[in-house]
Amino acid sequence: MPVLFVGHGSPMNAVQDNPFTRALAELGKNIPRPKSILCVSAHWYVDGTFVSVSPTNKMIHDFAGFPSELYAIQYPAPGEPAAAQKAQDLLGKSNSRMTGNWGLDHGAWTVLMHMFPKADIPVFQISLDMRKSPADHFDLGAKLKSLREEGVLILGSGNIVHNLRKINFSDTADPYPWNVKFDAGIKEAILKRDADRLVNFAKFFPEETPLAVPTPDHYLPLLYAFACSDKDDPVSFPYEGFELSGISMRAVRWG
Ligand code: ZN
Repeated sequence: MPVLFVGHGSPMNAVQDNPFTRALAELGKNIPRPKSILCVSAHWYVDGTFVSVSPTNKMIHDFAGFPSELYAIQYPAPGEPAAAQKAQDLLGKSNSRMTGNWGLDHGAWTVLMHMFPKADIPVFQISLDMRKSPADHFDLGAKLKSLREEGVLILGSGNIVHNLRKINFSDTADPYPWNVKFDAGIKEAILKRDADRLVNFAKFFPEETPLAVPTPDHYLPLLYAFACSDKDDPVSFPYEGFELSGISMRAVRWG
C-alpha cells in the first residue's frame, strides 16, 4: 500500500467542493483499495499512545462554532479490531495501550469522506503522545511500516504549517512568507529523504518554526507517514497549496 500524509485544514472542507477536496477524491480513486485504514490524526493528541479498538467508530465532532450541517455529518466506517491489535503488537505493549474510548475525529473523517465516500473501508486510529519528542514519534511510526504489506493504508492527517492565531479569512490573502518557506523546506526534505531535517525542523528553521509549528500536533502525523515510507517509493504531492494564509495544505504520497 502507499503511505499518505494529508493536510486537512478547516473542518469546512468536509462540506465544500474545492480544488483540495477534488484532489482528495481523485487520490481515493487512484490508490489500491485498502483492507483497512490506520489514521494518525492531529486531533488525538493526548498523554499516551493509544490504539482505537472497536468494531464500530463513534463520530467525534471535535470543533466549536461551525455551521450545524457539520455536526450532522456521519461517516459510519466500521473499526478493525484485528488490525488494531496487530498495530499495537508492532508498537509494543510498553509503548502503547488499546482503548475503546475513541472513534473518528475530524482529522480522520473530513478527509476520508472525500477519499472513500462510501465509508465501507474499516478505519482505526492511533493517538499522538504529547510527551514524546519528534524523534520518538518518528521511531514509533517506523514500527508500523510492515502494516503496508498487509493492505493497511497508513494515513497521517495534520498540516505541515498550522497557525490558527495568524489565519486570515480574506479569500485573496497570500500565505505568509514563513509559511511558504517552511512548507518548501519540508517539501525539499521529503524529496531528499532528509530525516534529520524532518525530525529536527526546529533546528533547521529556527526563525520559521515558532510561527509555522507553534504546537507540534498538526506536524507530527507527517513523521509517522514518512517513517513508514521507503527509499524506493515514488514520491508525489497530490495537493499543494495554502489555506487562510497560515495553513499549508500539502499532501504527500509515497508509493
Ligand atoms: Zn486540524
